[in-house]
Amino acid sequence: MKKGSRKNNHAQKDLIIEFFKKNPSRDIKHPEVVDWVVATYKKRTGNVFRDPDRAIRQLSQRGFLIKIAKGIYKYDPQKAHKRKLEDFTAAQKEAILKRDDYKCVICGRGKKDGVDLHIDHIKPKDFGGEATIENGQTLCSQHNFIKKNLKQTETGKKMFIRLYELAKTEGNNDLKEFCADVLETYEKYGINGHIIWKK
Ligand SMILES: [Zn+2]
Repeated sequence: MKKGSRKNNHAQKDLIIEFFKKNPSRDIKHPEVVDWVVATYKKRTGNVFRDPDRAIRQLSQRGFLIKIAKGIYKYDPQKAHKRKLEDFTAAQKEAILKRDDYKCVICGRGKKDGVDLHIDHIKPKDFGGEATIENGQTLCSQHNFIKKNLKQTETGKKMFIRLYELAKTEGNNDLKEFCADVLETYEKYGINGHIIWKK
């Protein structure tokens, strides 16, 4: 990375934020914001703003901008504010840890067992779960990981069941056994037990 380019990145991002804050709650197409930030950056610094599209995408990924459609973004001051409300404060985290006795609520392991503890949203942020002490729980890294990946493992288990059925129909024993081994691993660890695999 070129010396000072990180600082430039920062200034460029601030400029995009400035534009969206001046134009709140409006669907804005890429060219409008790009034209403005490129021209303003040139005027203020004399330098070329490189890859503004990428900077806009990053702001969208971080939840500052809402992606309306391909190449259309919106800044919603209400939502941007809410985003922060969804994250636990240090004081809330401490209160949740204390309430849960500094132990994972699933397996009961804690710091003294050498596991890292995480504060998890019981009702996920994606479903409107907020950062309240009531909606927080203490999980160890392992259970936090399993919970975060639950949706992916559900998809995975369903996929292997379908593949298993197909292999059975086709009489492909190698594939059938491979799928069976994978599915038995799901069962062994009690993951996604609500998805029934009929052997
Ligand atoms: Zn645990």
